[in-house]
Amino acid sequence: MKIFTARYLLPVGAPLVEDGALLVADGRILAAGTRRELAAAHPGAAAIDFGEAVILPPLVNAHTHLELTDFPQWAAATGEGGEPADFVDWILRLVRVRRTVGDTAVQASLANGLRQSLLAGTGIVGDILTTLDAVPAYATTPLRGTVFAEALGIDVARVAERLGDITARLGTPPGPALTWGLSPHAPYTLSAATLARLLALATSRKLPLAMHWAETAEETAFLAHGGGPLAQRLYPAAGWPLPATPPTCPPPGGLLIHGVHLRDDEIDDIARSGRGVVICPRSNSCFGDARAPVNALRRAGVALALGTDSRASSPSLSVWDELAFARTWFTDTLDPTSWLEIATAGGAAVLGLHGHTGRLAAGLLADFQVVPVPAGAMPATLAEALCAGGADVGVQALHLAGENVLPHS
Ligand SMILES: [Zn+2]
Repeated sequence: MKIFTARYLLPVGAPLVEDGALLVADGRILAAGTRRELAAAHPGAAAIDFGEAVILPPLVNAHTHLELTDFPQWAAATGEGGEPADFVDWILRLVRVRRTVGDTAVQASLANGLRQSLLAGTGIVGDILTTLDAVPAYATTPLRGTVFAEALGIDVARVAERLGDITARLGTPPGPALTWGLSPHAPYTLSAATLARLLALATSRKLPLAMHWAETAEETAFLAHGGGPLAQRLYPAAGWPLPATPPTCPPPGGLLIHGVHLRDDEIDDIARSGRGVVICPRSNSCFGDARAPVNALRRAGVALALGTDSRASSPSLSVWDELAFARTWFTDTLDPTSWLEIATAGGAAVLGLHGHTGRLAAGLLADFQVVPVPAGAMPATLAEALCAGGADVGVQALHLAGENVLPHS
């Protein structure tokens, strides 16, 4: 039995505790409270004091593509380091650069992403995987969460073949604390018929779903009338005929990624069905000024989470950086305590880990991170100072199931 103590315990979903403590045994939290009360009740427990620090839940990166962590170096090496002009240019560049890289390099890139995540205080991920042969990179990671194997295309036979490749992997979890999910890529890269194939597999194998949805104005135009830049430039480049019927509504029960251009009726539908939405503000800011309707989603009761998206559109894999950006990009929306809740408990909830992790409370897994108290922060300003800190918060420990898993930097 161990007692971890620090100047502050920020449990999420419960008030801040000064001189806080966590009682941990067998990888679980037995109690959260003050140092004084837990030490008095458990005099035999070993004490680990973090000093002028904050103990809080690990961050959840609910949407990322860790296999693309080394994308900036790949792009630079192929002379494609510049900024794409728009969303379609961005996709086409991604495809061109990815074709220059072998699967071994992708596996190394994925391993790098897993390590960078841990260093940034992320303990739980919702990762999208395209390169199935890179799966061994997950074999020893302590990260929790879901690896969503991605499929796309409008040719039914080719998508069926891809689903066969994915199915062959499902017998073995990708990592010790990771489970499989399935990701239909996006409504503009699937037809109603191919999406139906994916949904059938998800249902039969009980796989959680995650799908990019309502990300850009180009996507909205494509779904509304089958035209616009995606039809004019992406489809010819991919050598695809335009689908007779693109998907018109998101899959039932799936996690939605982005949700920037959601309509009010779609928000109501998402709320009714209990689906979550992962917002990726820094990635979205690459493709215009449109911001996800955070207030409307919250009002409707939709569970929200944060994601960094990939290094192809985002400057880092740090959810601390994402939080700092979100706090200023979404002006006059949520208070810092709510943003911290979205980045922790919200992420755990949308990945199906509510009741297991994402908060610090008795009975949950002993998943927590430790950061120094930001300079000058007082109890009333601590959440704001943490949100503003970005990667500079300086994660000093990351415990998953009670074990410190922070890599040496
Ligand atoms: Zn994405």
